[in-house]
Amino acid sequence: MRSPWAVLLVMLAGVAEAAEIEKVRVFAGTNHARILVINSDTVENVETRSSPATASAPARATVHLPGVQRGEAVQERIPIGDKGIREIQVVEVGDGVQFTIELEGARSVHSQAVGESSILIDLLTENGAEDETLPTAEHIDAWLKGVSLSRMAGVPPRERRLVVVDAGHGGYDHGAIGTKGTREADIALEIARRTAHALEQRLDVDVIMTRDRDIFVPLRDRAALANREDADLFLSIHANAAPNNWSKGVETYSLASATDANAARVAARENAMAKGWSDKSDPLLGRLLAAGTDRLSRDLAFEVQRNVVSRLRDVYPDAEVVDLGTKTALFYVLVSTRMPAILFEASFVSNAEDERRLRAPHFQQTTADAIVDAVDAWLQRQKDQ
Ligand SMILES: [Zn+2]
Repeated sequence: MRSPWAVLLVMLAGVAEAAEIEKVRVFAGTNHARILVINSDTVENVETRSSPATASAPARATVHLPGVQRGEAVQERIPIGDKGIREIQVVEVGDGVQFTIELEGARSVHSQAVGESSILIDLLTENGAEDETLPTAEHIDAWLKGVSLSRMAGVPPRERRLVVVDAGHGGYDHGAIGTKGTREADIALEIARRTAHALEQRLDVDVIMTRDRDIFVPLRDRAALANREDADLFLSIHANAAPNNWSKGVETYSLASATDANAARVAARENAMAKGWSDKSDPLLGRLLAAGTDRLSRDLAFEVQRNVVSRLRDVYPDAEVVDLGTKTALFYVLVSTRMPAILFEASFVSNAEDERRLRAPHFQQTTADAIVDAVDAWLQRQKDQ
């Protein structure tokens, strides 16, 4: 947040603050790549140029954005090494920023404005057609506005919102196991069932569960179900576990790079069933981190976390309910869903006190009710906007 003094000084000096590049997203397909550059303010007079390979340099495309600076979150080198793109360099030159995209072969380059202040760069091989699996400019525009990818013009809004409740694990994938033998899959199902029931009873929404009994459902199918049904929200419910017996508490995740080592460990455990998948084995998928849905997901994660912790503290005044806060990590189910999505970790089966509570129906119901209150507040806020 800028202080009023800083604003005043800028005004007195008559100096406009330069726009900043906040994020770069790469979507690459067959013969076609799109690079989304999200800026803090509008950028005009973007110049593009493409040059074929020479004896000393690979083919490249350059895009010059005048009057902007590279934001802190944007790397100077973005290695790709896939789909005909070697790497992207983002370097401040003169009055702006130059993108140099190193390619396996020459491509045409074209830029257009999307959203309020973003630039979409298209790179096409000579005879390549647009890749229809990539998000369209309309998709990206909707994304930037923070609406679900499939909630676009032309698609009539559903009368009732649809929430997909995902009970983690199930079947031969029992998830984490507590010291008393508590299976994460069972706890997740109990809380998910209660959440689904309370959502239907108390809010004007439709609900689908990814599983309502002890069966194995691949991670890929969970996300695919939510995408196919064009859900408005994906809620994944889990119980946590740590390699020690003292970690405890409640935490809620939305999608982005891991906040810290613990968040990365939780994601690795939850992603175990997506065999062979990782953000490293699938760098493009990793980089698909939604541009606009992340704000909605983060808001919801915050609301759920705050509500659950405060309700549990009311109900268990003598117990220690640890607030581990909201975090981000690369969860497969969150990467693959197109709508706002969060992953909730109810408490630790690996801690004796947490485990005892997790098994209690009263704890499960309290948690479910608090999640539903949070969803209610979050949906209400969107209606008001
Ligand atoms: Zn889990």
